[in-house]
Amino acid sequence: MRSLRLVWIYPDLLSTYGDRGNALVLERRARLRGLPAEIVEVNSDQPVPRDGDIYLMGGGEDLPQTLATDRLTADGGLHAAVSHGAVLFAVCAGYQMLGAEFGGAEDQPVAGLGLLDIRSGRGERRAVGEIVADADPALQVPRLTGFENHQGVTRLGPRARPLARTSLGTGNGDGTEGAYAGRVLGTYLHGPALVRNPGLADLLLTWAAGPLPPMPQQAEELAHRLREERLAAVAAHP
Ligand code: GLN
Repeated sequence: MRSLRLVWIYPDLLSTYGDRGNALVLERRARLRGLPAEIVEVNSDQPVPRDGDIYLMGGGEDLPQTLATDRLTADGGLHAAVSHGAVLFAVCAGYQMLGAEFGGAEDQPVAGLGLLDIRSGRGERRAVGEIVADADPALQVPRLTGFENHQGVTRLGPRARPLARTSLGTGNGDGTEGAYAGRVLGTYLHGPALVRNPGLADLLLTWAAGPLPPMPQQAEELAHRLREERLAAVAAHP
């Protein structure tokens, strides 16, 4: 069986708050089901492979975010992979980069990758803290829990759907959180997002590999404990 290729884009520029954990969780959840998987780390001076199954991008500071966007545009590999149906999961700076534009370090508009119908700019206040959001019912993913730390606010165009509606935290800034279209999905959630939300991890794996065999029950215990602990913490201190 061909190994599932998980491509972690530019860890040298985009990897705040342990977002690399998203790649580790996808690899683990695939392997626990007997699906071979490998993580390919691509630094910003290396070409982006076009034959990956799931591409992952993390958060980043303002300047690395602009640099990463320029390099990905020049490289073209990510665009080629997405146009061939690869899954793309991006967090925070990575999420903003997917859109038509985002706010740069001096608040100037910077052209994004144009892979998702969103636009971001800088908001009045930095959004920092826990976030809880209910995912679009069409995705069949349980309530999302995460951590956010961003200045940007994001507006969705007609070709993107909100990933979720926030019940705590800022997300996109208008009561929604994240966005998706086809197999491209972005979110402000750190945590890392896929560690706290195994349902979201499984959605991405399903998009890439089709219906998944069940996971061994005992392997879910730690993930459940983390979710319960985080959701209980915000319920106790709203
Ligand atoms: N630089 C972006 C912002 O502040 C993204 C930050 C991040 O990835 N944590 O909005």
